[in-house]
Order: sequence, then C-alpha cells, then structure tokens
Amino acid sequence: MINLHSAIALAAVFLSMANAAATPTSSYLPQSSPTYLPKFPAQAGVITQWPPADPSAPLPSGALPSSVPGSIVSQTEYPPANLPVANAETDPNIIPIMKLIDWNYVPNATVTYPTPVSSGLSPSMDPSYPADDPYCWWTYNQCDTPKISYIPPDITICPEPDTWGLTYDDGPLYFTTPTPENAVYAEPNFYDFLLNHNNQKANLFYIASKILYAPVAAQRGLNDGHTICVHTWSHFSMTTLTNAQVVAEFYYSLRMIKQVLGITPKCWRPPYGDVDDRVRAIAWQMGLRTIVWDQDTDDWQIIGDQVAPTASSITYATANKTMAGYVANGQGGPHGHITLEHELSNATIILAESWLPTIQKLYKTMPATACNNIAQPYWEESFVYDIQGTVAVSTNGSTVGGGSSTTGSPAGSTPSISGKNSGANLQAMGSIMTLVAAAVLAALL
Ligand SMILES: [Zn+2]
Repeated sequence: MINLHSAIALAAVFLSMANAAATPTSSYLPQSSPTYLPKFPAQAGVITQWPPADPSAPLPSGALPSSVPGSIVSQTEYPPANLPVANAETDPNIIPIMKLIDWNYVPNATVTYPTPVSSGLSPSMDPSYPADDPYCWWTYNQCDTPKISYIPPDITICPEPDTWGLTYDDGPLYFTTPTPENAVYAEPNFYDFLLNHNNQKANLFYIASKILYAPVAAQRGLNDGHTICVHTWSHFSMTTLTNAQVVAEFYYSLRMIKQVLGITPKCWRPPYGDVDDRVRAIAWQMGLRTIVWDQDTDDWQIIGDQVAPTASSITYATANKTMAGYVANGQGGPHGHITLEHELSNATIILAESWLPTIQKLYKTMPATACNNIAQPYWEESFVYDIQGTVAVSTNGSTVGGGSSTTGSPAGSTPSISGKNSGANLQAMGSIMTLVAAAVLAALL
C-alpha cells in the first residue's frame, strides 16, 4: 500500500495531467476588469470579503436595517429606471468605454427589433433573420455557442450529474405598492428562507435599477453569501439596443452594484435570454461571462402582485407541473441543470419556497456559478465562494469546466475549454483524469 504522501503526489500528477489535457487549442479574447468605474467609499455594514472575517458569526437575518431613501445611492447619479439609456451615444460616462472596446471583436449584427422601447418585452422573430443564425441569437434558436471563436460559450448547465444550479432573477424584490398581503414576501423573506434551509446559497441576478430602490435588500443578499450577477439596468431585450445602449446597460449595472455592494461581477444573464454575438462580445470586453439556463420554470408568468395578467399568464398548477417534471426528470442524466426562477413577485417566492426542500433532498444544490467551478465570480479577489466539491465534468463542451479544485476558474478568466468544435477529445480525457484524481483523493482523505 502506498503511503499518504505518495498518494497525494500521485493525485496531484493526475490533476495536473487533467488540467493539461483540458488546455484549449485556442484562446478567448483576454478580459480585464472594468477600470472605468468610479471609486466609491465602502458602504457601512457590507461585507468586503467571503468567507466573512468571522466565519462563526451568524449571518444576518430578520428585518432589514432602515435607511434613509437616497442615502446609499442617489437617483441623480443614474439614468431613469426601467428604460434603456436614451442618450447613451453622448453620455460622458459611456464615451470613454466605447473607445476602450475593440470593435473589431464585436460582430456587426443588426439590431433585431425596430421598436423595442415601448414594450420592453422579448423581441419578435425577425422574418428577415438568416436561417443559419449567423450571430448565434439565443432568441432565434437557443444558440449558446458563439459563431465567433474568441468568445466562450454561454454557461447553460451544471456539468456534474444530479446537481441543481439555483438562480433567481429580477431581484431584489420590493413592492412598488406594498400591501399587508404582499409585504411579507418582499426581501428579506426569501433570503431568510434560504438561510433557514441548510444555509442554501444561490445566484441572484439583480436588475440594477431595482437596487436603486432596494439597496439594503441587495446588501443583505450579498452579506448572506449569495453570488450576485448582473441582470442589466433596464431589463430590456439587449439585442434590440444600439451598441452604446448595450454598453450603458452594463456600465450602469456594474456601477450600481459597485457603489451599493462594493463588488464587480463577472457574470450576467440577458433578460428573456435575448443575447447574440454582438451583445456577448461587448459583455465579454466589459468583464462579463454570459449565463443562461436549461430549465425554464416560467414562474414569472404566474399572476402575482406586480405581474399583471397577459395572454401568456400561467397558473400555479401549470408552474407546479413544470417544476415537478424538472425535479423528477433531472436525476441520472448526463449532467446537472441550471434552473431559471425569479424573485419577482409574491407568486414566484411562494413557488420557490415550496419546491426548494424537495430539490435539496434530491440534488446537490448550489449556485450555477459554483457548479461550474467558479469560486471567484467578482473582480475583487477577496471573495472566494465554496464550490462545494464540484468536480469539473465536461459534457458537450458548451460549458466552462475549470480544473482547479481550490479556487476554481474565475468567470471569464483563462478559458479551460475551447468550445464544441475543438478539443472535445482532450476535454473528455481531462474529465476522466479529473475524476480519477478526485477518486484517489476521496479514497485517501
Ligand atoms: Zn429577468
């Protein structure tokens, strides 16, 4: 029998072989942190590192601290909420970023919809869009692997089987017209629920202009250890916006999150999933990796306070049926899943809270970033999240799969795989080697 030291050395060799085998044959465009954000003073009561300085201290829960409106962040520093930036081309904050972006790496995809501003909804199918989907337009055909080689694929799944990537969009939740009935579902209801259920962590994709009105709730989300990602400024369909408007969506999101939370995410999700290679390339150059999903619960279509009935509204029964199907069918497959849920209304919170205990029983449940080995989802390196022993398993090459077992692969840093069409065998080899190494370590430690 080999001794422990030799075995660990052997495992290390396996791991290094695994990483070497997974090295891509081509690289993605390098990323850098957004240097154009203003320097903001640290906010009182907001963590500046993870794990917290005192890991044994209880995480915050219960009623949010009171704050004077406008004292944390002022509307005057931001464009009007819920609308794309109207004068992005002449905005003095946006002009320097437009000069920093290398437009040679931004495909000249046409803006897909001529009159988006009045609706804010997902774009209609453009009948003139070419059938071969030249810009990998997700809305057209759920394309998630860019046609351009220098941008990584979208993150769509959890590579490891029986794993459930938890993502909640459209928060932080507050009610524009609070009532005694809906007020109980505003944050911190859901964050307390997660804390009280096995200290569950999730990805929270925040709409930045909502943080303006609920900054303390957003701070609670970060302080409780959730991973915060960008969900744009206005929540409009990104492919319908001009280049300068796309830049402005990211800029004001990143700025708001930096000002209120002190962090700079590397992850974003397009509203309605609406992204193409033009938008991906701009996001990437602003330090952001695109994350979508492979299980859509449609929870946002349940009628609730702040969600008016529409032709596509669904009932709880329909949403429950969809969720039950995902829960029943997701086990034993070749990979785990990233599920789209929302902290949007009382209805979505009720659905999320009713299903989470079952999901936790059946699946390894964690943020989608964690299941993709992303321990450091912000440009600030003082935040290192638990990736919960996630093993890098590459299934179809369409997702990230960092080989590191300690800090993981920062979103959008040096890529570890190169996409569907190259290096597939190397990826498979890397995955097998990583599993072997993990098995060796597991047997010994
Ligand atoms: Zn959304």
